[in-house]
Amino acid sequence: MRIKILPDQLASQIAAGEVVERPASVVKELIENALDAGATTINVDVRNGGRDLVQVADNGSGIPQEEVETAFRRHATSKLAQASDLSAIGTLGFRGEALAAIAAVSQVTVVTRVAGEPAGVRLILEGGEKESRDTVGAPRGTVIAVENLFFNVPARRKFLKSVTTERRLIDEFVTRYAMAYPEVRFRLSHDGRITFQSTGSDDLRDVLVAVYGAEIARELLEIGEGRLEIGDKRLEEKDSAAKEERTLTVRGFVGPPSVHRSNRNQITLFVNRRWIKDNRLTYAVIQAYHTLLPTGRYPVAVIFLSLPYTEVDVNVHPAKTEVRLRDGNAAFGAIQKAVRRTVVAGSPPRDAGWGAAQVLPGQHSSPVGWSGSLDDKAFGQQERGEGQGNLDLEWGRSTPAAEGTDGEATSGLGSGTGTLLGGERLPIMRVVGQVGASYIIAEGPDGLFLIDQHAAHERILYEKFMAARNEDGIASQGLVTSATVQMPPDQATLLEEQLELLGSLGFHIEPFGPNTFVVRAVPALLARLDPAAALRAVVEDLEAEKAPLEKEREAKLILRVCKTAAVKAGQSLSTAEMEAMIRQLESCQSPHTCPHGRPTLIHLSAAQLARQFGRT
Ligand code: ADP
Ligand code: MG
Repeated sequence: MRIKILPDQLASQIAAGEVVERPASVVKELIENALDAGATTINVDVRNGGRDLVQVADNGSGIPQEEVETAFRRHATSKLAQASDLSAIGTLGFRGEALAAIAAVSQVTVVTRVAGEPAGVRLILEGGEKESRDTVGAPRGTVIAVENLFFNVPARRKFLKSVTTERRLIDEFVTRYAMAYPEVRFRLSHDGRITFQSTGSDDLRDVLVAVYGAEIARELLEIGEGRLEIGDKRLEEKDSAAKEERTLTVRGFVGPPSVHRSNRNQITLFVNRRWIKDNRLTYAVIQAYHTLLPTGRYPVAVIFLSLPYTEVDVNVHPAKTEVRLRDGNAAFGAIQKAVRRTVVAGSPPRDAGWGAAQVLPGQHSSPVGWSGSLDDKAFGQQERGEGQGNLDLEWGRSTPAAEGTDGEATSGLGSGTGTLLGGERLPIMRVVGQVGASYIIAEGPDGLFLIDQHAAHERILYEKFMAARNEDGIASQGLVTSATVQMPPDQATLLEEQLELLGSLGFHIEPFGPNTFVVRAVPALLARLDPAAALRAVVEDLEAEKAPLEKEREAKLILRVCKTAAVKAGQSLSTAEMEAMIRQLESCQSPHTCPHGRPTLIHLSAAQLARQFGRT
């Protein structure tokens, strides 16, 4: 083929691809424009995950009548005038690409009026071409409706993810901007239903409540003043204006160590109020929690880094979600120190050595740090021996049915299987004691066993759960008083999609207003736990997944249920409890590993012991 210049429209479509990747990018760009226009109210309405409609209405400056068409041309911006402006960008937009890109791949209607002009303009574009223009009455500000995204780029439209995924990404953008701009009132609706609102009170805490729910927001610790001078350390003290200019500040909120997640998604970073992705700075936050969180767990944090515009290059990528910092090390250090200081000062003292499972009284209502608080609760009930749930059954202490099963299994094992150490089944063991409130020591026919109580219990519960599922179904325990649970918008969306699956696992949940659900029943396994915390724990991982198959999702949820119900490390167990657990582990099909594949026990054979002690 001969080399030729692409027709304008095709060139625009290609360029649009970098800026407008999906419906959430449209939401992001339009919100950024509204914020740059000084809006104090921003309403976002979405239909069908943004495929059919993304509409953003603001009460900002509006676009002057004679500039409306220009705004939709490529490289048209009011935010940059000359090359030197690029070195200190104080607006969210500056590339003059977004409106042109959006218009090139959709049908756009814009209605806008600036203060002082008697009437506004309505402009309709299709694939970037003007369809009509009228003078209309309109409030001050701008409404941009983007319909049928990618209608003229079928390849793109085909590759859009599920409506749920798009909704989640949109929720993420809206809630993140609401955090960065607490003085602005945001409202988001999906298919006519409001799913998120912020008050515009200018108090970040209010936004955090709207995003995370009151319980989690209450737990978050505010970062104290964390300032650092950049570069020239000899800067004169008295020259405070200049000093201010060269100052880097870290503000925000971080979770206490009792609040943790299975992934980094809840570490949110802003640089000069721009939401950014940055692995290194994310790592600075994680490092600040070093040794404070269980391995594989990640903190919740909302961090605002502010520094002079000249210290940041935001012109790295068309989507503007990455930045380059002139002094990346300073930023890393400042974040790491500020977070560490806050977490250490804010977290209650704990007994050395017992790790995350030690929980202080005030933390019982902690919704994310559930691992500890649930334990206590579970034990409270067990001590009373009430068996409100099926705890007794799980421990096999007083329930005849459990005793029967154990008896059978034990006698089966007793006859000749005792020496099958490397095989599938376990030998009969005698409990000797517990170490570190986490491991059970037991003696077998050939040496000694160290059993990880949490991993072992997970295995036991998992096999029971699967057996029940294959036989008469999973037992569900109705709640005497149903619990109302509020979820963050993105998780609420996911939860809603999974109600049926959760129903098949024993959760009976109904939607109850925006982001709120009523839990009427839980799997019997979880009956002893606080229903809200149990639900949160079980759906926590859903968000991490891209588009898992239904089967995988179910398997994952089952694992979560078992993990949530299992006794944790750090809980002391009575001898009867340990014996019950060992007996049940002995009767498991695959007793050597937990359902996640980690070992449940370590065996030190008599021969090994003899060797170690130099007896042979
Ligand atoms: P950029 O934001 O990079 O300048 P855009 O293509 O997003 O580029 O927007 C082009 C121009 O249109 C902006 O510079 C601004 O002048 C104007 N504009 C866009 N959206 C709005 C809005 N909501 N309110 C007022 N002006 C707007
Ligand atoms: Mg813009």
